[in-house]
Formats: sequence, structure tokens, C-alpha cells
Amino acid sequence: MSIKIPIETSARHMHICREDFEKLFGTGSELTFQKELSQPGQFVAKERVTVIGPKGQFENIALLGPLRPETQVEISLTDARKLGIPAVIRQSGDIEGTPGCTLSGPNSTIDISQGVIVAKRHIHMTPTQAYKMHVKDNESVFVLTKSYERALIYADVIVRVHKNFSLSMHVDTDEANAFANDQEPYGVIIKLFDSDTYDVSEWIDEILSGIQR
Ligand SMILES: [Zn+2]
Repeated sequence: MSIKIPIETSARHMHICREDFEKLFGTGSELTFQKELSQPGQFVAKERVTVIGPKGQFENIALLGPLRPETQVEISLTDARKLGIPAVIRQSGDIEGTPGCTLSGPNSTIDISQGVIVAKRHIHMTPTQAYKMHVKDNESVFVLTKSYERALIYADVIVRVHKNFSLSMHVDTDEANAFANDQEPYGVIIKLFDSDTYDVSEWIDEILSGIQR
């Protein structure tokens, strides 16, 4: 069966570790709660940071709590170009070898050596929802979005399953604009192949060589 998946747009934001947070905001500082997010326990903090790259900067970048083991800045491809930082698409938490940037807060300015990513689009869901939709954790799926005159089928959408997740697909601002999202955007998972996952590049090669599935 298929389930209507609400699509939420993540604007540029960051997660931060205690060490970097205390450097930017002062020793003993704590994140101040401002607003709850859809995933349980996650919140927007009141504190803001300036993210600086070789070509530009963004002020008032929101910090999402709680604190994490590693600092991670999440931007769109458009943002990456404006900052002058190479765009590297990664799943959240997978920051090894990604570009760094400069961060500025009220207490100091610091350089981080890695952690700037363009988050890979994904769907949060519970094990029950995954069971109903016949998908598994870390599976790559296709999502057809509801749109006015500009519907889009997203490939390479990663399923993330956890009992505490709330059903929601997360895209960045570029991705949201690409399908002209309306007030309550949603999508559905579509199965284009019999197998669980399918490599899209392989599919393209097949089509170019005349194989039709
Ligand atoms: Zn997410």
C-alpha cells in the first residue's frame, strides 16, 4: 500500500558539538530552546551563527538541538556556490572528508576542517510505516511529488527507519523549489522496479543501450 508522505523543506542550518558551541558562545553556554521540529526531541535553538566561505557568507544560521558529537553545516547546492565551497552530497552524520568552513559567533570565530554537506534527500518513518510501504532502512526509493504543473519524480531518496521517527520527507530549498511545492506538499513512494533498490546510473546506461524494463 502507499502512504501520503508529507514533504518538509530544510533551509540551511547546522548541528554543533559542545566544543565548537562553547568556543562560539562562551564556556558553559547551553543551547536555548526556541521551537520544536517534527522529529521528536529535535528543536531549533535561539542561538545564531554566521557561516563563512571563500566567496560569501550567510548570517543568522539556525542551530538545531540537541548538541551532537560532531559539527555539521547543511546547505543547498545554490548556497554552496554562493559560499564558494564544493558541494558534497552526504547523509547526515557522514562527514568524513567533506569541506570545512569558518563559523562566527558572539564569542569567537573558528575554522572547522570538515562538516559542510548538502544533505541527501531522505524519508523518516517508523518500522510499521516501512513495513506497510514495503521498504527497508537505507533503501533508495523513487518519490512522485504532488505539484501544480511541475510534478517531479525524485530518485535516490534514502529511507531512514526508527521507532521514534515521524513520517516526513526532507528536502532542501533547491529541491523544494524544483517541484513548485504548495502549502502542504506531499509525495508517494513509487516502485519502478521489482528489485528492492536500483542504481539509477545503471538504468540510464541500459536505456541508452536499448534495454527497456
Ligand atoms: Zn531529516
